[in-house]
Amino acid sequence: PFEVLIVGGGPGGVAAAIYTARKGIRTGIAAERFGGQLNDTLGIENLPGTEYTEGPKLTESLGRQIAALEAIDLMNLAKAQKLVPAGEPGGLHELHLENGAVLKARSLILSTGARWRTLGVPGEDEYRNKGVAYCPHCDGPLFKGKRVAVIGGGNSGVEAAIDLANIVGHVTVVEFDTALRADKVLQDKLESLANVDVLVNAQTTSIEGDGNRVSGTSYKDRASGEERKFALEGVFVQIGLVPNTEWLENSDLELSPHGEIVIDSQGKTNLPGIFAAGDCTTVPYKQIVVAMGAGSKAALSAFDYLIRNNEA
Ligand code: FAD
Repeated sequence: PFEVLIVGGGPGGVAAAIYTARKGIRTGIAAERFGGQLNDTLGIENLPGTEYTEGPKLTESLGRQIAALEAIDLMNLAKAQKLVPAGEPGGLHELHLENGAVLKARSLILSTGARWRTLGVPGEDEYRNKGVAYCPHCDGPLFKGKRVAVIGGGNSGVEAAIDLANIVGHVTVVEFDTALRADKVLQDKLESLANVDVLVNAQTTSIEGDGNRVSGTSYKDRASGEERKFALEGVFVQIGLVPNTEWLENSDLELSPHGEIVIDSQGKTNLPGIFAAGDCTTVPYKQIVVAMGAGSKAALSAFDYLIRNNEA
């Protein structure tokens, strides 16, 4: 069995593995896709110490760092399907993979990340990273002085619009429902901003471009049924971040109402010996540096658990 088995090979899982391996602990990583969301990320400019990098490059460099650590056994293209927690504290947890294998481990670090909910309209995939964005903290500065839309009028959409209004030229918030759903204080703040417009009862139907970049978006006015279009340079989709935790729904692991793994300040879950880190957890602010910090924290907590259970 592994002493520590990490589920997920994104920034959170990799940071955890580096920490446990450097303590000489036999560490496994089971990852559906090594690198996680980094594989879909173009420019990264907010990782302290690294002025500029690209997701696939960062993935490569994390891969080299892992490969140099002998204690780590990386299983890529390994999708976890079921968790069977240990019967008693200090016992072995089981991880069932989609390929039929069953891995056993004294402690687990779950770091399966999340995915942005997509609109599913024409143009969204085609112009992803070419004007279609999902993370205002990451990509906001790329739209300095330009016109953007934020699709989604919940808390994250309205927060994004307030944030972007400081940087971009103009923001249009597009909400499907008949009213914004964000907290009143956010809506009040939004209303006070001169360069923001709000469209409600508007169903985004497509994102258009010139072949290289986004140039506009279309929506259906749900009251009149009319189709309308406006010109812009960027579209931020803010209709939710979905944690990759569906496979944990029938385990005894505590999940939040949004499906996030509930952790404490040390990365502990409600089950002894099971830790979690990164975008799949209740940690606020889903970012690379946050996931890496959480991964290293969960690793140190797992180490602490193992020495207290006489195994490390
Ligand atoms: P992830 O990166 O999502 O990794 C999860 C890992 O778990 C993957 O290996 C995945 O394959 C694996 N996995 C999932 N389910 C299973 C399963 N059942 N079994 C086994 N493995 C599984 N953040 C920044 O800080 N700066 C940026 O500039 C930035 N830009 C971004 C741009 C885009 C387009 C996107 C999508 C995100 C961006 N982010 C950025 C956010 C950042 O990528 C995430 O916060 C970060 O990757 C989270 O790391 P993680 O390890 O928690 O999860």
